[in-house]
Amino acid sequence: MIHKTPASILSQELTTPLVIAGPCSAETEEQVLRTAREIAALNRVSIFRAGIWKPRTRPGSFEGVGSIGIEWLKNVKAETGLLTAVEVANVKHVQEALQHGIDFLWLGARTTANPFSVQEIAESLQGVKIPVLIKNPVNADLDLWMGAIERVQKAGITKIGAIHRGFSSYDKSQYRNKPMWELPIELKRRMPELPLLCDPSHICGTTDLLFNVAQTAIDLDYQGLMIETHCDPFAALSDAKQQVTPSDLGKLLERIIIRKSSVEDKKFLSTLEDIRDKIDELDNDLIRLLAIRMEMARAIGQNKKNSGVTILQNSRWNEIVQDRTKQGMEKQLSPEFMLKLFEIIHQESIHHQKQVMVNGIEMKKKNK
Ligand code: PEP
Ligand code: MN
Repeated sequence: MIHKTPASILSQELTTPLVIAGPCSAETEEQVLRTAREIAALNRVSIFRAGIWKPRTRPGSFEGVGSIGIEWLKNVKAETGLLTAVEVANVKHVQEALQHGIDFLWLGARTTANPFSVQEIAESLQGVKIPVLIKNPVNADLDLWMGAIERVQKAGITKIGAIHRGFSSYDKSQYRNKPMWELPIELKRRMPELPLLCDPSHICGTTDLLFNVAQTAIDLDYQGLMIETHCDPFAALSDAKQQVTPSDLGKLLERIIIRKSSVEDKKFLSTLEDIRDKIDELDNDLIRLLAIRMEMARAIGQNKKNSGVTILQNSRWNEIVQDRTKQGMEKQLSPEFMLKLFEIIHQESIHHQKQVMVNGIEMKKKNK
């Protein structure tokens, strides 16, 4: 099933994911129309995307065709019936897109990162009825992403979706932009009504990981995908390595397995409930043990205070990290997880020690 009207598109009730596809950039009228025709023929894509104004990392590279590209998108819609979407980065872009009947606007990652720009764009949308998709900011800052969404909401836009396109990081990774799934998952927890889409193209930066990332997003109950698609990816003027042909897009979409988010099957439900009960019990145990561990941290704080010793002793911390990582790995817990876990446990321990040492809060006496 494909979705045909902008109003019904951004909903959590979709039974098949919403698919947005099209080139990173509109380059020529022929490239745009050829790509759109081939995409429309898949009968699986609802919205045609194309970047018209391209904010590139460095000046001098291809920076988009500009306003003429909007005319080409009008032709796409007239000829194929696909809805159209463009990235807007300032008020002028918004006005042109609205004048030319573009169906969806999206804010790019660099724009979301800048509340000045988001605010100006939001104000220019007062009284307008157009769905707006908001990509995550380049940096891994959930509040910044939510802030952009809230600014657009405050302007009266009711159809809003979030697009997860990964986060820039200085470390080398297999991804162009690390997915950091925990951020969009937390966004979903804080804004449960907001449809969430994934842009695997900008997460991956190449086409080989695309399917896995797209499938992961669908397994996490995302409502849709935005996938960069070009009729001749090797000749693309921007993001050439990550774009797929319409035919490869079709193959990818066919392979995606759509699982149900819940089922009525009684046996499944009772097993699920049993496992969840066990998880609840284990979480209780974890919290109880953590509380006892922090009690120990306060006891150490008291002891150090009595003997005039510093809180942080680096050799001990090193020993903990190495020992716990090794123990975790023996139990199939990843070293990254163990390190993160013990970093926050250690932080909380220091906080408890400090309460005793610096703030002079005495250890709570045990109940008689
Ligand atoms: C794009 O969609 O082509 C784009 C520029 O994406 P992002 O804002 O995610 O970098
Ligand atoms: Mn791109």
